[in-house]
Amino acid sequence: MGGGKSLQEWKECRQEWGERALFCTLSVFGKDQIASGPFPEKTRLMPVAETPLDILVIATHPDDGEIGVGGTIVRALAEGKRVGILDLTNGEPTPHGSPERRAQETAAASKALGLTWRKNLGLPNRSVQDTLEARRQLAGVLRTTRPETIFSPYWHDSHPDHVAASRLCEDARFWAKLSRSDLAGEPYWPPKMYYYWSIHLRIHPKPAFVLDISDAIDQKMESIRAYASQFLEGRPQVFPTALDDIRDRARYWGWTIGTAYAEPFGSREEIGLKSLDPLF
Ligand SMILES: [Zn+2]
Repeated sequence: MGGGKSLQEWKECRQEWGERALFCTLSVFGKDQIASGPFPEKTRLMPVAETPLDILVIATHPDDGEIGVGGTIVRALAEGKRVGILDLTNGEPTPHGSPERRAQETAAASKALGLTWRKNLGLPNRSVQDTLEARRQLAGVLRTTRPETIFSPYWHDSHPDHVAASRLCEDARFWAKLSRSDLAGEPYWPPKMYYYWSIHLRIHPKPAFVLDISDAIDQKMESIRAYASQFLEGRPQVFPTALDDIRDRARYWGWTIGTAYAEPFGSREEIGLKSLDPLF
């Protein structure tokens, strides 16, 4: 859970804000799954999410979260964690997609993962930049959802949106803790931030850790297949397909740790262990 306040305190805070606390309820997937643009001005004044997230996946485009950490999301949900994906853009235009279709595919992918919290920040696809306004919006989401852990796009890539999104995540994380600001919610510093791979460069960075997703690979792949406009249409369906490539990379990372499938994570900081359990 995000540190600081107890659940009771969150609820009291929400009651205090009463009807103005619309942002508290926007996190119910299905009621308001896709925002059409940047959050309205008044969300800057909103307090905190009704229930803090344990993990917030920040995805540059809808499908990046599934590619990078789809299996981890399934595992975290199975362990009772509250997990959300914040897509920064709608990912369109693409050769075979449209905003409406991509939104439908995103909803189907979320369903395949079992995800119940998903939002879209409404930043412009192909033009993501670490602007002050984008940083303000993302910092507001961090302060209102108060995740314990952020999964951010990896910092190296050939896609400028991915590189900018990674930088944006870091700067919004810093801004989120600022006091005496007009940002949404209360100051908050997400304690942990790890980076996932959904990258176009054919590189092999050394991960900080690798998580076993053997039991979750089918759901991960189902969620990615939901994006038919991105992975099926207009692509050659002979081996190795784009889906084969994604699955085989998960298989490779599984091989590195002696399991069937896995997902790698990067970290700029050292990762501490609080017990010996992970060593055995
Ligand atoms: Zn992307």
